[in-house]
Amino acid sequence: LKEHNARHLWHPMAHPGDMQANPPDIIVGGEGAEIIDVDGRRLVDGVGGLWNVNLGYSCAPVKEAIARQLDRLPYYSIFRGTTNDQVIELAEVLKDFFAPDGLTRAFYTSGGSDSVEVALRLARQYHKLRGQAGRVKFLSLKKGYHGTHTLGASVNGNANFRTQYEPLMPGCYHVPAPYTYRNPFNETDPAKLAGLVLAAIEDEIRFQDASTIAAFIMEPVLGAGGVIPPHESFMPGVRELCSRYGILLIADEVITGFGRTGSWSGSRHWGVRPDLMTTAKAITNGYFPFGAVMISEAVAEVFEKDATGAGSIGSGYTYSGHPVGAAAAVACLKETVRLNVKDNAAARGAQLFAGLNDLKDRYDIIGDVRGGHGLMCALELVSDRASKTPIDKTAIARIHRGAYDAGAMVRISGNNIILSPPLILTEADVATILSALDAGLAAA
Ligand code: PMP
Repeated sequence: LKEHNARHLWHPMAHPGDMQANPPDIIVGGEGAEIIDVDGRRLVDGVGGLWNVNLGYSCAPVKEAIARQLDRLPYYSIFRGTTNDQVIELAEVLKDFFAPDGLTRAFYTSGGSDSVEVALRLARQYHKLRGQAGRVKFLSLKKGYHGTHTLGASVNGNANFRTQYEPLMPGCYHVPAPYTYRNPFNETDPAKLAGLVLAAIEDEIRFQDASTIAAFIMEPVLGAGGVIPPHESFMPGVRELCSRYGILLIADEVITGFGRTGSWSGSRHWGVRPDLMTTAKAITNGYFPFGAVMISEAVAEVFEKDATGAGSIGSGYTYSGHPVGAAAAVACLKETVRLNVKDNAAARGAQLFAGLNDLKDRYDIIGDVRGGHGLMCALELVSDRASKTPIDKTAIARIHRGAYDAGAMVRISGNNIILSPPLILTEADVATILSALDAGLAAA
């Protein structure tokens, strides 16, 4: 297996040459919050698949729902005049989740990148339908990650995800993230930094001319960029600017939706009602590729009132509203509510965050610990705390390997270790992740 993997498989987001030098671990099983590798070793999954396996790997109701739906109706399109019972039921379930955020309409997709693409397209179309065809630009945060499609890549904040594919979409502008540890303002106070970034956003809106901007897209807690929770004043400030300048606010909740932050949505943490919300990942817990864009009544109304036909939505995929995916999502989200995983995410997230801060007291290579909002945390590793020089690749690989050998899978992203375990994690699982990281840090 290992040899074939290196020779024939091209892994996304890894240089093909790396496969020989640093072969990936082969995972063959999963149970509860644990994964099992090809050598039979069990590891607590500190990565939660890829921020998506919130309910762990043994979710019987989802498996049963998929099997049932495969027998009844494996596929039928929801394009042009047909629908299916599963997508209708799912829309109800999603409405119950997100009505408190002011979002009651669901548009189905096949995953996170698709959801972002649809949300950005809907934003432009919304303005066109209202006679503001000049509103085409997008603003986003420098540390944001919004998937791999062309619009999503254009609003991605990390240049690594953009430059190789340029020219991308014109009209996409990136503003500094509210990242306290490193920022162009050299501001370490989160509240003051939020104010400075909001002022920079307003400057950019004015510079671009507000009447040319369609939407601002942001993650309520930046995820792939290194788990960066903003100050509580930040997202409400963005909401206020968007409302004042007629710009739609898109919350990218592909990671934060469905309980990861300790709330059913990340936006709700900050008391913000976005106009559109992207979801995917935990909507099916990894059992089926699926996503949904949630839409406010006010936005939906503009499409529904349109009599010209321009409001018909050209963003459908063959697999939009796949009945098996929808059945998986219904079962998954009912289980998500039944287990009330958001409360466990908050409790276990607090335990994890406290443990990571204890590690920081003991290891100088930990420059910054981020988290405090459910089960998404990060360690930023530096070779020197004063200069904040990022730790080198070999040292971080040693931490990863040391943690693996001590029983936990963790994720490396640049000079960060990111943790996003299943939300069903137990107190003992958190202790395992922490002791495994301790072993990895000692090894480095
Ligand atoms: N938005 C965010 C915030 C994400 O974290 C991701 C994936 N990590 C995406 C969009 C893209 O989702 P997908 O990988 O399912 O296409």
